[in-house]
Amino acid sequence: MASSIFDMRLSGGHPALDLVNTVDSRRGRQGPDFLRSFDDVLGFTERLQLIDAGGLARLRKRATADPGKATDTLMRMLELREAIYSLFLAEDSEAPYPDEALRTVVETARAGRARQILIKADENFVWTLPFDRLPDAFYPFAIAATDLLTSRSDRRRVRECKGENCGWLFLDRSKNGRRQWCSEASCGVHSRVRRFRARSGHGL
Ligand SMILES: [Zn+2]
Repeated sequence: MASSIFDMRLSGGHPALDLVNTVDSRRGRQGPDFLRSFDDVLGFTERLQLIDAGGLARLRKRATADPGKATDTLMRMLELREAIYSLFLAEDSEAPYPDEALRTVVETARAGRARQILIKADENFVWTLPFDRLPDAFYPFAIAATDLLTSRSDRRRVRECKGENCGWLFLDRSKNGRRQWCSEASCGVHSRVRRFRARSGHGL
């Protein structure tokens, strides 16, 4: 069993969905929540390679200097996460995207984009953030979520894993598009075991 952002499975297929999945689980039972401190925020952003070592050191220093602001930043990231969850859960059920969640995600992404800087990386230029203010830790996720929205016609629908005690969201990138579970090895296997037991009269 995973117990933190460092060992949880990254099976969303997209950083915005991996953020949603930092609550393990969302169906049947709620939680545990792996984003519990600003350190978790930084650890997760680092694990998804959305921040460089210099940025990490700068934000860590800022958070130590102002723990109150670090906690506020964690709260804002959780608010963003729940808005992203509402948006893509609606997509799974082919319902309209909820207005308030859409507003939260778009406004956060706009604030993040306004802070972006263009830097040279090898042969290319890439957009990144200065990572000198605490919200820079979560802006990449808001920007990623809007990228997911604007690519709607080029990809499959985001789906919700219907595994018991799961409810994680994922983007099916498989060739045949038949992925049913956030993870074949966990939810897929559990579901087959349950079906087998039900058929052979062993109950659950
Ligand atoms: Zn699952």
